Amino acid sequence: MKNYISLKLKRGHAEMDVDIKVLKENFRLRNIEVEAFDSLNEIKAYILNIIPSNSTIGIGHSLTLQKMNITHLLSERGNIVYDKELSKSREERQAVKKKALIADWYITGSNSISIDGRIVNIDHSGNRVAAITFGPDKVIIVVGKNKIVNTLEEAIKRVKNVACPLNARRTGLNPPCATLNRCVDCVSMDRVCNTLSIIEGQSETGRIKLLIANEDAGY
Ligand code: SF4
Repeated sequence: MKNYISLKLKRGHAEMDVDIKVLKENFRLRNIEVEAFDSLNEIKAYILNIIPSNSTIGIGHSLTLQKMNITHLLSERGNIVYDKELSKSREERQAVKKKALIADWYITGSNSISIDGRIVNIDHSGNRVAAITFGPDKVIIVVGKNKIVNTLEEAIKRVKNVACPLNARRTGLNPPCATLNRCVDCVSMDRVCNTLSIIEGQSETGRIKLLIANEDAGY
């Protein structure tokens, strides 16, 4: 487990060491636990260790989780996993999203976290931000170091100008940012950021764990 994560800032391509102790303390003050790991593989082992094999688990769509193959690993050992990506129809997808909201655990990624202690996400239909906010008693959020920025303002800028265009193209939606690579605050029916969520703190101690990998993952 590292005390520092080397983070390459976009602006000027300068390298900056993120002091994980400072980041952890900023989240601790907001009642959110942070653990840092060398790799997603370490995070995978940690998750498989702390979640009981008889728990139900909701999965929020995340390229980071897909890279970890976490749905398959949990299902294989006996957990009931609600992952909308495995659905075969729109109706099933909606039902799975709803079941995930009341699972014992929820595992997801995030679009950005700030060193000052915020977790920022955009969502198209809202199921992921809803589950992070309320529902499952335990929430695990996995992020790669590329999701770390300094402030809330930078986090929002990142989700709108980096995550949204890439998400739009991945899902086949075509809001203006998909071609402009920047947010123009659209009102398109193809808007991918119908909900912008900022987790600023947590009332239930131990509910949200933020796990950070010292590698890039997702966008
Ligand atoms: S408001 Fe529209 S243009 Fe801006 S990030 Fe969201 S979908 Fe893209």
